[in-house]
Amino acid sequence: MKRHEDISVGDLLTEGRRFVLDVGEHHEGDGFRAIIVVEGYPGFFPSGELSNRLDAPPVLWWATDDKNEAQAMAYSHSEQILGLSRKEHEAIILSSIAAQQKAQRVQVKRDPDTGQVWLRNGYDQEIKLEEDDAIDLYQDLARSMNLPFRENCSECGAILNDEDKCEWCDYQ
Ligand SMILES: [Zn+2]
Repeated sequence: MKRHEDISVGDLLTEGRRFVLDVGEHHEGDGFRAIIVVEGYPGFFPSGELSNRLDAPPVLWWATDDKNEAQAMAYSHSEQILGLSRKEHEAIILSSIAAQQKAQRVQVKRDPDTGQVWLRNGYDQEIKLEEDDAIDLYQDLARSMNLPFRENCSECGAILNDEDKCEWCDYQ
């Protein structure tokens, strides 16, 4: 599976997803940047990325300083060039926002056989943690779920093997 960062608009369109050009940032002198929002895919792509496609809409900027007008131009582009109604345009934007919200969710996975726990992001990719972070996270989870876990020594921070004393700093 490709990493999220390596996925191009072309890959997503090849999957048969629909897209629209929507309204991005305002730039003085140019208007609003056209951004590509792909159905069911989080975030957006800058419109320049479509430039190597022969059938790509040539629009890069909504040449106006009025955001409402830029939005109207985007709807009009969807209708006339992409054959999508305003409702369909909005549905594609909403599907991308929904995917964005899902992508921001971290899932905790646990292997039922080994008991190993790991994290996955919303793109279903594994999140790597430094060992200390992993220990902190596990302790927080265990604490909130009332599962057994080993505390850190309050003196030196080492993980306690024995509840009553630390083998590293002689703290008792
Ligand atoms: Zn200690």
